[in-house]
Amino acid sequence: MGDCIFCKIIRKEIPSSVVYEDDRVVAFNDIQPVAPVHVLIVPRQHIESVRELTGENAGCLIDIHMAANKVAEKLGVKDRGFRLINNCGPDAGQTVPHLHYHLIGGLKLGAKII
Ligand code: AMP
Ligand code: ZN
Repeated sequence: MGDCIFCKIIRKEIPSSVVYEDDRVVAFNDIQPVAPVHVLIVPRQHIESVRELTGENAGCLIDIHMAANKVAEKLGVKDRGFRLINNCGPDAGQTVPHLHYHLIGGLKLGAKII
């Protein structure tokens, strides 16, 4: 049982705006959105980052991607498309040590970094 802020959100110990959840993942609105749609998708299991993925736990990546499609459809951005972004570790600016993907949508990308 993890003690990080996202584990507390998953356990509903601190409030969040959940947009989708199932037995393996939870998706909630980012508290500081950078786009009209900015949702964080996290596995219920506490995995710190991409670096802690193993053959045993990597199935959560499929769960996250399937949840992303459901969230995008529910929030009306599936047809237009969206970005699914992960920040891993200090150089990438990861601030919460619980694996999460940002689903960003509702605006057309101006300049692409990659
Ligand atoms: P990252 O920088 O990739 O680690 O992303 C962490 C994200 O978590 C940031 O976009 C924050 O705005 C978001 N965040 C932090 N605390 C909360 C919270 N309590 N509820 C929702 N989003 C949060
Ligand atoms: Zn956690």
